[in-house]
Amino acid sequence: MILSERPQKVDGSEGVAVLRQEELWVGCPYCGEMIEILVDISLGEQQYIEDCSVCCAPILMRTQVDAAGQFSHIDLKRDDE
Ligand SMILES: [Zn+2]
Repeated sequence: MILSERPQKVDGSEGVAVLRQEELWVGCPYCGEMIEILVDISLGEQQYIEDCSVCCAPILMRTQVDAAGQFSHIDLKRDDE
């Protein structure tokens, strides 16, 4: 059995990919280094912890989407505030 990871297209639609991820460069609130993160906006607004790839500190991420479901903003906070 072959599992395809390619997004499926639905005829008649706008060809929107099922999996919608945004690659973002953000500044770590601890060490200030720019790190690349991958946000899955298909899940809508969410809050989660992601460790900084430079200093390994836990960063509290909060993603926001607009009314059309498009990624609009991400908040980064230190987990110790
Ligand atoms: Zn850091």
